[in-house]
Amino acid sequence: MTPTLVGPDDLLERYDPALGLEVHVELNTATKMFCACPTTFGAEPNTQVCPTCLGLPGAMPVVNATAVESAIKIGLALNCEIAGWCRFARKNYFYPDMPKNFQTSQYDEPICFDGYLDLTVPEENGGEGEIVRVEIERAHMEEDTGKALHVGGATGRIQGADHSLIDYNRAGIPLIEIVTRPILGTGARAPVVARAYVAALRDLVAGLGVSDVRMDQGSMRCDVNLSLSARQSGVLGTRTETKNVNSLRSVERAVRYEMSRQAGILDAGGSVLQETRHFHEDDGTTSAGREKSDAEDYRYFPEPDLVPVAPSPEWVEELRAALPEPPAVKRARLQAEWGYTDLEMRDVWAAGALPLIERTVALGTAPQPARKWWLGELARAANESGDELDALGVGPAEVAEVQRLVEGGTLNDKLARQVFEGMLAGEGTPSEVIEKRGLALVSDDGALGAAVDAAIEANPDVAQKIRDGKVAAAGALIGAVMKQMRGQADAARVRELILERLS
Ligand code: ZN
Ligand code: MN
Repeated sequence: MTPTLVGPDDLLERYDPALGLEVHVELNTATKMFCACPTTFGAEPNTQVCPTCLGLPGAMPVVNATAVESAIKIGLALNCEIAGWCRFARKNYFYPDMPKNFQTSQYDEPICFDGYLDLTVPEENGGEGEIVRVEIERAHMEEDTGKALHVGGATGRIQGADHSLIDYNRAGIPLIEIVTRPILGTGARAPVVARAYVAALRDLVAGLGVSDVRMDQGSMRCDVNLSLSARQSGVLGTRTETKNVNSLRSVERAVRYEMSRQAGILDAGGSVLQETRHFHEDDGTTSAGREKSDAEDYRYFPEPDLVPVAPSPEWVEELRAALPEPPAVKRARLQAEWGYTDLEMRDVWAAGALPLIERTVALGTAPQPARKWWLGELARAANESGDELDALGVGPAEVAEVQRLVEGGTLNDKLARQVFEGMLAGEGTPSEVIEKRGLALVSDDGALGAAVDAAIEANPDVAQKIRDGKVAAAGALIGAVMKQMRGQADAARVRELILERLS
């Protein structure tokens, strides 16, 4: 059954969207949340497991102190209160990727609560960014599940698969789940606000150094809750929860789609089902998952095998004092250091290029060329392919290398763009692309001189003008040489050679 979709302008006349975002951040601790198993990404399946994370009888969990420290840092950066005493809880449900039959999580005693995050939400028409405060209800500690791989079907989902494989390496990796209060009053900007929140949270956690926050690798995952209420009724509608949305762009699209879909149901007099939904990258739609359980269905109870966590006020204050510069402050400082205009900075930030440019500049590239390559070439490519900017396979080291080659006269901007194109197509490092595509600029006087001589001979009128002192006419000869050398001549050197011969 194809849902009836309602356009955004139309639906906002009748409904107010309410957003709620639940983000799971996988911590980058060396070991798991309750055992000493390593957490290396991409290891052979089921090689990083032990009786504790496999839930074997008699195994006893022990809390990872570094994970608790990371949780407190995230809470402090989100302006949360930190609990003086809190416990873990068992969240009981069966799923094949969860060998213990319960997830060790936190329920009514989260370690961090009552915080907020201020976002600068870029205006669509390039106007001044608006500050939106998102209230944080809680940030709690829990463990990740394993990973199921469904083999043989077309979609990678369990429907239609021949068999399923389970890898428990991820089971027990520490997670922090950050839950917002309902975000109201955003109207047409709800999709953009959702995206801006996840981006700001990602920047904040990245700045703390406690997670890789790679949405494409699943170390940051977002569940998008959305409901519509009758305009200005103040009564929240029934929400859906779109699970594990794994890019910023998808967060925005998932909100947009759910708004349109739910409006279609409500307009027809139907009611929205409280359920989880899956997001589909290919067409930007969502489809029904399972009917959503209420908290009481999980039969939460305090975890009897773990001692309560009671961070001392001194420790919390020590961590607070050592927090890094908040992202918004850092943004202002970098803008001043780099000499970017407000508009340039906003574009850089909106494209998620800030940390990448920062690293590129640290490798010796000047701020303006760094911005030019990241926004001009790479952000455009990311937009076209739907990839995250930091997952293109071209990083700060490659950008800095290309710029070094431009400054050293091996490449001009046009050739540099072809090098980026080659790197994005997986052709290797800058020097490998240059080699394979034969892109280096010719600045060797022998080859250039021959081409210059040929151009002079072919254009005697132009040559005469230059001899008569009309230096501006050299442009036509430079053009002829460039054409002959397929754009790979060092234009400055060509000009010098022309003027030497004709003066
Ligand atoms: Zn283990
Ligand atoms: Mn969770």
